[in-house]
Amino acid sequence: MTMHAVVAGQAGGPEVLEWREVADPVAGPGELLVETAAVGVNFIETYQRSGVYPVAFPFIPGAEASGTVIAVGSDVSGFVVGDRVITAEASETYAERFVVSAERVARLPEFIDVADAAAIPLQGLTAHYLATSAADPREGDTVLLHAGAGGVGLLLTQLLVARGVRVLTTASTAEKRELSRAAGAAESFAYEGFADRARELTGGAGVAVVYDGVGKDTFDESLRALRVRGEFVLFGGASGQVPLFDLQRLNAGGSLSITRPSLGHFLLTAEERSWRYGELFAALEARTLQFRIGENSDLANAADAHRALEGRGTTGKVVLEV
Ligand code: NDP
Repeated sequence: MTMHAVVAGQAGGPEVLEWREVADPVAGPGELLVETAAVGVNFIETYQRSGVYPVAFPFIPGAEASGTVIAVGSDVSGFVVGDRVITAEASETYAERFVVSAERVARLPEFIDVADAAAIPLQGLTAHYLATSAADPREGDTVLLHAGAGGVGLLLTQLLVARGVRVLTTASTAEKRELSRAAGAAESFAYEGFADRARELTGGAGVAVVYDGVGKDTFDESLRALRVRGEFVLFGGASGQVPLFDLQRLNAGGSLSITRPSLGHFLLTAEERSWRYGELFAALEARTLQFRIGENSDLANAADAHRALEGRGTTGKVVLEV
């Protein structure tokens, strides 16, 4: 049996992504075979496709998807054919079907449409661990978050605001800044001079936490936006990876701390995973958290989706439907 998938034959630009016939995956012990409803596109797939993060080629991208279980491997309990599931932790999801460990999926609540659901897990779980575990912003603290209208940015803003944190964001266009404010940002401004702006808006003190997924272009100025004993959460490099830097700068900046976290390290146990999914689903049902699908296309058009994401042309989540 064969199916279609998006395959990169070698590292390169979006044009290396081709819609090809490949062998059907088979669920092994402990695994589920899922018919894909929709795939979530994430920045990491652009790093992998372009060779910034090493992967073996030919490469089928994708960690995130929603769909329906069509086969259950041996040694799996708790799932049956027909279950609607989502995952942020599979591989090769840019495909009509994918296989995933049963431990790494969540059953989808009734109130969420299965195609829309691909917008939730990866950026939702990321926003959740960034808000709750990677740093410790307290009620009343002010934080600075870059790319406030992005997929992670819109979700993280809402989760922080719900915890009583004051959120300042950057975004590159007036439309994006408006979206960020609508998600709860107290102020959203352009990147030019953002550290001075953040200081002004905190009475000169600086912010408690900087959440920086832009990386290379914002890193230096982000350090300057922090208050004494502030926390720097470097969670991505949409503009490029941050080069080596002198740790003494943390001292000069006021006993700052820095972390470079990854989602996988915040889903270490079944309990941790189910706590994070549970809080996301509860907030979505209560409508204190809303996700935005800014771009929706067919899976076969994955190359265009990568172009849009890398070209800063998207807001919220990019979803590819099968
Ligand atoms: P976004 O939807 O936020 O898209 C990236 C945004 O970054 C752009 O829209 C753009 O917003 C901004 N940006 C700034 N400079 C550039 C540039 N030179 N090129 C492209 N974009 C730029 O993406 P995601 O929400 O999927 O991811 C956000 C970040 O989070 C990424 O760095 C990603 O790698 C990271 N991430 C990290 C995880 C982790 O666990 N560590 C997990 C998931 C994501 P604007 O135009 O407003 O500047």
